[in-house]
Amino acid sequence: MTIETHVIGDGCSAMMLASRADELEGHNITLIRPDGAPPAKDHMLGFWNTPGLKFASRVARASWSNWSIITDSGEYKMSSKRYAYHAMHKEKFLESCHVKADMNDVKIISEEEAAEKRLPKLTFDSRPPRASRNAMLQHFLGQEVIVDKPVFDDSTAILMDFRVDQSHGMHFIYLLPFSPTQALVESTLFSTKVLEEEFYIDSINQYLSSHFGASVKEIVHQEKGVIPMGKLSPHDPKIPGLGANAGAIRPASGYAFVFMHQQIHRAIKRTKNGKSLRFKRPHKAVDVWMDGVLLTVLRHWPNQGPILFARMAERLTGDEFISFMSGKANWGLRMKVIMAMPKLPFIRGASKFILSRPLKVMS
Ligand SMILES: Cc1cc2nc3c(=O)[nH]c(=O)nc-3n(C[C@H](O)[C@H](O)[C@H](O)COP(=O)(O)OP(=O)(O)OC[C@H]3O[C@@H](n4cnc5c(N)ncnc54)[C@H](O)[C@@H]3O)c2cc1C
Repeated sequence: MTIETHVIGDGCSAMMLASRADELEGHNITLIRPDGAPPAKDHMLGFWNTPGLKFASRVARASWSNWSIITDSGEYKMSSKRYAYHAMHKEKFLESCHVKADMNDVKIISEEEAAEKRLPKLTFDSRPPRASRNAMLQHFLGQEVIVDKPVFDDSTAILMDFRVDQSHGMHFIYLLPFSPTQALVESTLFSTKVLEEEFYIDSINQYLSSHFGASVKEIVHQEKGVIPMGKLSPHDPKIPGLGANAGAIRPASGYAFVFMHQQIHRAIKRTKNGKSLRFKRPHKAVDVWMDGVLLTVLRHWPNQGPILFARMAERLTGDEFISFMSGKANWGLRMKVIMAMPKLPFIRGASKFILSRPLKVMS
């Protein structure tokens, strides 16, 4: 018997699932393009090409085996021989999924067309989850720029450079150099308030001028985003989720791509073992707890951000850092991360986190 399976949404997780529909025996997958969705926009997706992500690294635009975290006290470089940090255009990834989805005979229909059909047996919802009021947000604006002189070291991605204005919350620059003159430069904050566009753009220009002595000659592309962090609620509590709407966003980093892959991969494996199709939160409870404490520290003592990320970069090897960021840490590695953290803020953060009450969900 074939189970008609509908997925609301046609973003990353829905398309990733559609591209693997051939592995879902006994399910006929249809995607429903949701009404009221904002126009799709391209943006860069970053990930380490850990096992299973070849399908994505194949369509990536660039990769770096070295990456760094920079604070006022120095530059902390990490590298991995096995896994490089990749950057991929979301549009390119979706295109590659569309090709496979077509081969798998996945249909994409409108809500109106879905309403005309008989009710499907199974529906999953990949529309964005809801954040609580006053939730911590990762908000950013990035520009792919061409600068007036060759200043970028294109062998190293800068994941976080904290040498920028810290007065509005933890703030860093994320810089992916595509060549000595071309890079994606993103001004990123962890705080509860999204700022005016001007703030991020000024930060990018000031950063390039102060630390590279360069100015922007051309803006090739601009992207911005707001990723809610911490505990999120489903878009519609009556419909089981997929992707970010099923807990794929790592609470303290905002990374979701690698976790969507883990979530979908495990769901397919479940069905192969005769179990029902279900998309579970891909993170371990202990990691979610540690992220909760970290977010509490960053919310109340954002000035600790540069210290703790620098310590992590200093004490972990590149491969350990990747394992931690990709949800593959074992207890030994978790202890290493805990031991690297400044103790007092974390003890205070843990007490505050344990005592904190759930926040109200935004309607
Ligand atoms: C700018 C940006 C950069 C990011 N960069 C990274 C990164 O580098 N690495 C990483 O791991 N993660 C990153 N993320 C997080 C995450 O990987 C992406 O958000 C990813 O697209 C989530 O996939 P999804 O399928 O859950 O949701 P989406 O791909 O966002 O799909 C959601 C679906 O819901 C629809 N929809 C959206 N809003 C509404 C609405 N209001 N009403 C109805 N329908 C709606 C959309 O049209 C789409 O069909 C980034 C996110 C953003 C926004």
